[in-house]
Amino acid sequence: MEYKSSELTSKYLRSRKIPSTACSGCGLGMNHKIVVQAIQELDLDVGDIVWGTSIGCAGRQTFATWKGDGFAGTHGRVYAIARGLRIALPPEKYLILTVGDGDAFGIGLAHLIHAARCNADMTVIVNDNLGYQSTGGQYGWTTPQGAKTDSSPYGMFEHNLMSEGMDVMHILKGAGATFLARHVSMDGERAVETVKKAIQNRGFSLVHMPYPCPTNFASRELGSRNQVNIYRWIKERAAPLGQEKNTTVWATGIWHDASNSRPEFSQLVRETVEKIRRTGTI
Ligand code: SF4
Repeated sequence: MEYKSSELTSKYLRSRKIPSTACSGCGLGMNHKIVVQAIQELDLDVGDIVWGTSIGCAGRQTFATWKGDGFAGTHGRVYAIARGLRIALPPEKYLILTVGDGDAFGIGLAHLIHAARCNADMTVIVNDNLGYQSTGGQYGWTTPQGAKTDSSPYGMFEHNLMSEGMDVMHILKGAGATFLARHVSMDGERAVETVKKAIQNRGFSLVHMPYPCPTNFASRELGSRNQVNIYRWIKERAAPLGQEKNTTVWATGIWHDASNSRPEFSQLVRETVEKIRRTGTI
């Protein structure tokens, strides 16, 4: 179903924070809309969700946009805070975190892995602008190989977290995540359906969502901030899982769905504490 941004905004977001301070043409707003539309389609209210944000473009532009309760953490700490909140909050509350690629897959990766290991109930949306765009456009862990950036003028030549089959999704699956998916901003309804499934998993869910950055990434790699060019560049490098080509960087769709198959972190803590109280042992 197609929703007007204004309908979703007035119901769920703070009007004084929308539009955000993102650069003109930034694709982050499309990712944000996909998540809010999924919330609407699940018929959830503002009070059902606590929204966390991290650092960088993704954190700054979504910080305090949610009308309900929210919090923010520096690199990786948002997952640690979310684990604490998971125990403190009533179990029926949902935790949704909008973070960036540096926060999730670089500086904060150890915290992310431990949230997955515990199967802590949270939905992590990794808004990936393909490098360090809020600091001017240096390459990072998800910058496609060959891309020219401020710190790779001849092209990014290191292995990244999607190259040669070493996908970060495998790391997170091995760590214990129970729902993993990837979509680019232009995936629209497909992405909304996936985010709905991610939220419905009462365990650790992550959706990796690369998006176009016209200001820094496109200006270095494509030599222009023309928005059409960077949207096309990303779209050409994405393909549904199973339909990848040699040029595919982002295989999109659901990578791993073991929803509700492992004990959830806070549930396990509560049950264990209760058992110790009753029996004096675990
Ligand atoms: S620097 Fe790039 S990712 Fe950051 S707000 Fe501007 S366009 Fe978006």
